[in-house]
Amino acid sequence: MNTSALDVLAIAAHRDDVEQTCGGTLLKMAERGQRTGILDLTQGEMGTRGTAEERALEAQEAARILRVSWRQALDIPDGRVENTWENRLKVARVIRKTRPRVVILPYWKGRHPDHYTASKLGYEACFLAGLAKLDLERALSNQHSAFSQVASAVASVVAGEDQKSRVGRTPSPADSLGTDFGKGTTSNRTVKDSQKDLALAAEGLAPHRPYKIIYATLYCDIRPTFVVDITDQFETRFESLMAYKSQFSDQEAGRDIFPARAEIRARIEAVARFYGLLAGVTYAEPFLQKEVGLVEDVTAIPVKSI
Ligand SMILES: [Zn+2]
Repeated sequence: MNTSALDVLAIAAHRDDVEQTCGGTLLKMAERGQRTGILDLTQGEMGTRGTAEERALEAQEAARILRVSWRQALDIPDGRVENTWENRLKVARVIRKTRPRVVILPYWKGRHPDHYTASKLGYEACFLAGLAKLDLERALSNQHSAFSQVASAVASVVAGEDQKSRVGRTPSPADSLGTDFGKGTTSNRTVKDSQKDLALAAEGLAPHRPYKIIYATLYCDIRPTFVVDITDQFETRFESLMAYKSQFSDQEAGRDIFPARAEIRARIEAVARFYGLLAGVTYAEPFLQKEVGLVEDVTAIPVKSI
């Protein structure tokens, strides 16, 4: 697999979240030669429509459409994203492996608990990933062995039961490195950069902290601190969302909670147009940064005042 570091990693609770909140931005970055990635925290097993396996294939197709270089789903339970030590370690491990310069997280408030929890979990994992003295592999294996001890204790008091079938820990899909879609993107990184990355990858999990964390605010009605112009990426981003056929094609299951395709398009277009209007472009995606903006030349600040 390609072990080059990512320029941008988007982290979200569910497969298809990123396509809705910042897919156009990821595509735009890929078109500019940056390596982008998506980490989905869950696998979508609780969804009203489709299975986790179907969503995995759809997510792969969406990643291809958005020209994403790397995508992985962790094994955190769908509908139960919790900011636990173990989950922070799992996400921190991904950050050390993919070494992104920029991490996009969901905004920290919202309707769905998985979304706002993913925000805090992601932030704290970025912090942990940079701690030089934190041995992630050891910390994770300690977690697993603690789990096994509890499971064994439970098993030992279950009389007449086959212990193996009840307490065996199935291998986690999160143990794999994720899918690397190395083709289709060009990188402006130097050979020296790649060699450095390879050396770090060989080392395993060297500490890494992203330079920048930004928050995708599309699910939440707040004023963004900046928007990204996705006018040229809008149609392809919509296609990436439609790759989730199990979720968005017109069908009977869940008809009361899922709008028809034409309605989805109208809504998505209205939202993208709204954020575009704020900045004087056709379509845009909204983001928030906690830090202040730094300006070198006040005559070059975009977006017209009057
Ligand atoms: Zn979601």
